Amino acid sequence: MELGLFTNITFQSIAVSAIGIFGFVVGALVYSRDIRRIDNLAFFLLAWSFSMWSLLLGVFESIDISSLEYLILISVYMFAALIPPAVMFFAMTLFVGGKTTFTPLKISFIVAPFALIAVLLFIPDFFFMDIKNNGTAAKEIIFGPGFIIFATYVFLYITASIVLLFKKFKRSAGVFRTEILYVLLSIFIGALFILFVNIAFPYVDIYSLFWVGPLAGIFVLCTIAYLVIKYNFWNLKLAATDLFTSLISLTLLFELTLSNSLTDFIIKILILALVLISGLFLVRSVRHEIDSREEVEKLAKDLAKVNNNLHILDKQKSIFVATSAHHLRDPLTAIKGYASMTLEGSFGKLSKDSKEAMDRILKSSQRLVVIINDFMDIEKIESGEMDYVFSKVDLKKMIKDMVVEMTPIAKDSGLELKFNFDDTKEYRVNADEGKIRQVVSNLVDNAIKYTPHGSVCISLTKQSDGKEITLKIFDTGIGMKQDTIKKIFHKFSRADEASKFHTGGSGLGLYVAKEILKKHNGRIWAESPGLGEGSAFYLELKSM
Ligand code: ADP
Repeated sequence: MELGLFTNITFQSIAVSAIGIFGFVVGALVYSRDIRRIDNLAFFLLAWSFSMWSLLLGVFESIDISSLEYLILISVYMFAALIPPAVMFFAMTLFVGGKTTFTPLKISFIVAPFALIAVLLFIPDFFFMDIKNNGTAAKEIIFGPGFIIFATYVFLYITASIVLLFKKFKRSAGVFRTEILYVLLSIFIGALFILFVNIAFPYVDIYSLFWVGPLAGIFVLCTIAYLVIKYNFWNLKLAATDLFTSLISLTLLFELTLSNSLTDFIIKILILALVLISGLFLVRSVRHEIDSREEVEKLAKDLAKVNNNLHILDKQKSIFVATSAHHLRDPLTAIKGYASMTLEGSFGKLSKDSKEAMDRILKSSQRLVVIINDFMDIEKIESGEMDYVFSKVDLKKMIKDMVVEMTPIAKDSGLELKFNFDDTKEYRVNADEGKIRQVVSNLVDNAIKYTPHGSVCISLTKQSDGKEITLKIFDTGIGMKQDTIKKIFHKFSRADEASKFHTGGSGLGLYVAKEILKKHNGRIWAESPGLGEGSAFYLELKSM
């Protein structure tokens, strides 16, 4: 095909030039994602040098004017010589963000060899001796002695870039590692094709495959662009909006030149102005959206970091509480033991006053043991380290034993302790016996604590379908307001009236009880008709 100066247009030459233009668009698209990033700039320079090389290669193959031909060939090789340092620049800056500093040494390493090649290209008969157009799709180039310098230059730069990328790959982790690996592989494959087909082949007189290099190059560019876009989808949206607005504006601008009257021209100008203004707003809003999203992402990352630190602190706190509680318990056991022995008269007879004082020491130390145990339980519950050993538990027997143990305590407080159950029925559950005993004992203890006079009654009932067993502990004590009932299963929650009545509570027992019941797939709740009207606590467990 012939078109003006272009007397030798072939499918290959058009394709190669088109690839050049496409390469430029790809480069611009990636660059416009975030022009602050130096690796995006490096990619753009790479895409630009490649696109100019490819475009000019297509032009060179299509044109047939000897004076121009030589000049275009020099430009083709000039841009080809720009590609290796651009690859190097890209490899150096990939993922370093916007804060790279380029020392004069680094810059001269990239620029100096290129400058040398650029000068050598103009020496007649050094790189190229002759161009022959033998009527085929590709022209024959007779290379001079300097061509080997060019080939070595390309080879060394590409090898150095690949080595650099490989080092980065080894040092990086996660998503960056994957991305660098793909970049490395695509550059390696692309470079292999270009080195063979566009440098080695022409040297041994095979010219017809000149189009393979641009094809391999565009493959590399598209792979890198895809990776960049894949890992940052939102900025692609911005790039697409930019491109879309620019395309419409360019079309409208072109339309302007085709106006056939002044009115037509004015209308088109107005439309163009409207499109430009709304396009500007559109781009701004997308940019705003991206900025807010980035902000949210950053905040989420910060939050995750803070959360992580809190977890570490929480763990340290747990260790601290657990060890302190442990250290407190040992001396307390000794105090409790000696107080009890002294009361029993093991160290001689005590006066009435001493007996009373010793009794207080014993009771206070017993209360402290309960509080410390609650603390240790909470730490275990919250760190998920509370161990449960499930087995068949006979609730009837367990409570009978407990009543025997606690009757003297109830009697000391002037209370009657009763236990109602149906002797013909079995009350067996699958439970951790120690833990359920702890819960029930805490409920009975509370009932005794918060009942100034009257009785405490425990009852065991089995539902008619036999699936659930309910344990009820009710007293004639101080009772609770409805508001209090809602709060008492929370940590450190105590009713005011309870604190007035009994000062030594921690407000932890019911919280621990609720957590233990949860692990048994059971329920615990409280009821009371009101202050001064007594309370009832219920436990519900699955029957075996
Ligand atoms: P503590 O008894 O050490 O305060 P608990 O967690 O066992 O801690 O109980 C929490 C609160 O529930 C008590 O402070 C009290 O206000 C209320 N409470 C528990 N049992 C009774 C009860 N039998 N009668 C009235 N109030 C009770």
